[in-house]
Amino acid sequence: MTTTTVYRARKIITLEAGQPEATHVAVREGRILAVGDLERCAAWGPYELDERFADKVLMPGLVEGHCHLKEGSMWEWTYTGWFDRRDPDGQVWPGLRSMDAVVARLAEVSARMDAAGQGAGAPLIAWGFDPIYFGGERMTVEHLDRASTTRPIIIAHANGHLMNVNTAMLRIAEITRDNEVEGVVKFAAGHARAGEPTGELQEPAAMFLVLRKIGNAGLLAPMTEAGVRSFARLACRQGVTTATDLVNKLGEDDVRVLEAALADDAVSIRILPAFQAFHGTHAAQAGAEHVKALMARNTDRLRYGLVKMMLDGSIQGFSARLRWPGHFNGAPNGIWVMAPAQYEADFETYHRAGLLVHTHTNGDEASEAAIDAIGRVLARAPRPDHRHTLQHGQMIDAPLFRRMAALGLAANLFANHLWYWGDQHYEMTMGPDRAMRLDACASALAAGVPLAIHSDAPVTPLGPLFTAWCAVNRVTPKGRVLGEAERLTVPQALHAITLGPAYTLRLDHEIGSIACGKRADFCVLEDDPLTVDPMALKDIRVWGTVLSGRVFEAK
Ligand SMILES: [Zn+2]
Repeated sequence: MTTTTVYRARKIITLEAGQPEATHVAVREGRILAVGDLERCAAWGPYELDERFADKVLMPGLVEGHCHLKEGSMWEWTYTGWFDRRDPDGQVWPGLRSMDAVVARLAEVSARMDAAGQGAGAPLIAWGFDPIYFGGERMTVEHLDRASTTRPIIIAHANGHLMNVNTAMLRIAEITRDNEVEGVVKFAAGHARAGEPTGELQEPAAMFLVLRKIGNAGLLAPMTEAGVRSFARLACRQGVTTATDLVNKLGEDDVRVLEAALADDAVSIRILPAFQAFHGTHAAQAGAEHVKALMARNTDRLRYGLVKMMLDGSIQGFSARLRWPGHFNGAPNGIWVMAPAQYEADFETYHRAGLLVHTHTNGDEASEAAIDAIGRVLARAPRPDHRHTLQHGQMIDAPLFRRMAALGLAANLFANHLWYWGDQHYEMTMGPDRAMRLDACASALAAGVPLAIHSDAPVTPLGPLFTAWCAVNRVTPKGRVLGEAERLTVPQALHAITLGPAYTLRLDHEIGSIACGKRADFCVLEDDPLTVDPMALKDIRVWGTVLSGRVFEAK
């Protein structure tokens, strides 16, 4: 006999217009049977009343439409970010507020590795670094060689698009003044080392020179079951029940790890891995067939079918492709990670295969190039309800949003940038005018573009309520408000972390709201996001989650 559990809550926020609020929800076979009052739930027959959420607020399980499972495994390496950050075990690592502090931490870790008997050949890998907070001073080998002259050091930037290495690593990677790969930065004329590599490597082609040498030990280390499990713990603490892994090679090992971890009922997350269809993966036809074959193995908690493409780099790394007038501080235009013509050809292949393509575009030139290309592909090969989505789309303006609406494109905007880099965009990268419409959420909605917002974890920490707070308040660490007119209301922001991303993942019929027939996915809160001060949205405590009817208390 199937059992029915009825949960009573202080309040249930359904995200359904027909019945926005309720007090009881009935769950059977992992799905929502009824929502409303006790009478409505009881009408389905015998039930067990569960009172554990009687003083809590339930909302749909939160959906993170752009993050990476690495958020769970980055902590094997040294964190060197500007902001304090909590690891999957709950420990808070203090932010590093100067270049010297970063170098000191690296020196300390290198010394600890020496003491632990890890020879000088073992690489020291760090992440989360962001020189833009240090007033534009660039890191070079001159900094990193102070941490160690013998041990190879790799420090990945927070944006994931850049890294710095020391002289020992340059030597191993055989990067010299003669290297012609785009993205290998050299000391400028007039510097004592003019023409020599600075150790800064921009975008995948340049970074690969290093990554190929550290392979399994480094940032390309294969995903592990332990990493997926720590991601799931972190997600539970943030109320997230469905998340993407938005760049995944989906090789044999990746698939085995995903399938093993997500077959375990104790792992509290549903994952949609997106096939990496850029940089070295230009066999688009084979890629499309690979993804379609994997889709036959989909389960509730593991869904293949997304394809990730990438056009440009990162705004704060000055590697995004911008239209006129370019960077506010005069930095040259950024890097095409994939040539627009190649993008159009590959996009068409995945589109014709019936797959859902999510495209990374940061700068407005890249967004425009994507919209141009997709417009031509859709003219050649119309496909209703394709749900192709631009990811980040940080500099998309109202005219581009109107074109997106006309093409049926969705937007998943990077609202966390407003806080993490808002001041830098105002002062250095974009200048005041364009900083005011960074991640223009209200313009997207006004144009009729389906909207989601995201963290891009581990670029910024996973936490949709924080992301919603960014989109609602648009405040920066220096107290600026970046474009009041682009603020979302709290209900709009809650939509953009539930039904909004569910739509971009083609899952809005299963998740994203609390309604009869949908998966019993809930985010369990200690307070009501609709009644707290909007500035307190990020501080609401998450008790845990319910995923397909199973209850998980955050640890
Ligand atoms: Zn990403």
